[in-house]
Amino acid sequence: MKNKGLLIVVSGPSGAGKGTICKTLVERNSNVFLSVSATTRLPRTGEIEGENYFFKTGEQFKEMIANDELLEWAVFCNNYYGTPKKHVYDMLDEGKNIILEIEVQGALKVRSKYPEGIYIFVLPPSMEELKNRITNRGTEKQEVINERLNTARLEFTHINKYNYIVMNDTVDDAVNKLESIITAETCRVERSTEIIKEVCDI
Ligand code: 5GP
Repeated sequence: MKNKGLLIVVSGPSGAGKGTICKTLVERNSNVFLSVSATTRLPRTGEIEGENYFFKTGEQFKEMIANDELLEWAVFCNNYYGTPKKHVYDMLDEGKNIILEIEVQGALKVRSKYPEGIYIFVLPPSMEELKNRITNRGTEKQEVINERLNTARLEFTHINKYNYIVMNDTVDDAVNKLESIITAETCRVERSTEIIKEVCDI
């Protein structure tokens, strides 16, 4: 029998590069999967429905809330974002490790429902670098960039509610750190009850 998968929550300011490191982590590890969120934000160029997000209208999103389909949801920079619940719980039951790449308010809601999750905050090397990364991405207007930087400062005030900090200086280093965290967490005694039963017959 398998132990339950790990629920890994990754937060960090917009532009810190959490999307890139989570994507690389998933590509490098066959038992790590990304949860796909629902959002009312419009798709950016190149974003694919069902792969990057499930793009919803405000009405559709409110219906998902009313039907209790979301593990958590939050408003971020005037758009709704939420994690579809069923998929996440099914994957965990199948022993798969699943990553929620979500902002702080949502992460805190998940933590209150699922304290055994692993909560990781991704930091940029500096605020200057964060500003450069968001600006160079070229997908947001100046007004939105400023709003995202202000939101980042607010998000930093919640860092102490997370279990781990991963600085994203290079993608490779950051992914190595995430892999080390997952390996260590998987080896915890309380997560190995099935293996202990099988091997030690106790
Ligand atoms: P973006 O618009 O840049 O794709 O995402 C904006 C923020 O929303 C990011 O911090 C991202 O992690 C967060 N986010 C994405 N999906 C979800 C979700 O399902 N729930 C919550 N609470 N935040 C999300």
